[in-house]
Amino acid sequence: MLSCPNIKRFACTFSLLFLAGNLGCKRIVDKVAAPQLPPPQTGQAEQLNPTLNISMDASLSAKEREFLKEDFRFLQGLRFDSKIEGYFVKAFSTSDGSGLMKYLDDRIGHIIGPDTTVDSRFSYTADTGSDSGKAVTIATNIGTAVWLETVAQRRNISFFTNNTAIPVNDPRVGIIKLGKAYTVFDDSGRSLNTVARTSVLIHEARHSDCTGGLTDRDVTFLATGQLPENRSCGHLHVICPSGNDYEGLPACDGKVWGAYAMGWLFANELSQKCQGCSESMLQTAMIVAMDSLSRLDKETARAMKAGVLEYPDMSSNPPKQ
Ligand SMILES: [Zn+2]
Repeated sequence: MLSCPNIKRFACTFSLLFLAGNLGCKRIVDKVAAPQLPPPQTGQAEQLNPTLNISMDASLSAKEREFLKEDFRFLQGLRFDSKIEGYFVKAFSTSDGSGLMKYLDDRIGHIIGPDTTVDSRFSYTADTGSDSGKAVTIATNIGTAVWLETVAQRRNISFFTNNTAIPVNDPRVGIIKLGKAYTVFDDSGRSLNTVARTSVLIHEARHSDCTGGLTDRDVTFLATGQLPENRSCGHLHVICPSGNDYEGLPACDGKVWGAYAMGWLFANELSQKCQGCSESMLQTAMIVAMDSLSRLDKETARAMKAGVLEYPDMSSNPPKQ
């Protein structure tokens, strides 16, 4: 069983103007719930985009669906004046939105609504304490947290959606829980624009990669409530160091080309190479890029900006279950 403090260290915070969303990890109560057969009626899911295998769970509101569709249309239309040998093309394979769409499609399978509880959608019981602090959640990669639990507990956990049960046997099953801030950003009802929202999706999707796999030793660590040595599996956040704007918070990348670095790569390319983006899109992209960069260690950030860092490893090699 993973204890709450450890789980919280998986916390996935994405902050834009001090926003934070955690990875949705909650303390798992040591109570084995038998798989529910047949799965509970969860309502019919809807395909997000005809060209993708991403499904929008019945728990999503009409507004959330509308925003998600808008965000993928935005991605689909993007064109960049990218360098072939640059990081962006190396990571996403193309210099247009199609590479970003494929990246997301490979890593996000299901998107669920903000009010969906872990207990109601997974075949295990979790202590679903309230979201911590004053953080505003935009989105959370809950699938990776649950998958790590399946490794830690050496048992299968199913996710219920579209009136079926889906085994969470790979982090790329990709279950993203939207936060309320995805559609309503602040008390005055304002929304983030599509650049900010899509940056969050790019960030969250990276948590679905178990880059470099897990050793037997890592699995043992997980089983005893500790984090794996390979923090690139799930691209887990680390506590930001002293002097950082997010000092003391689990809101920084622990390894190269983590989730914040992916957010930077997207936003930075958008701010510098987008063909046909509006001024407000470019401005937002610049803010996201700066914020993302501030969550990397200084040496890595410098190397990325200078183009002398190794190319990103976009693979995922989770242990077979
Ligand atoms: Zn994250």
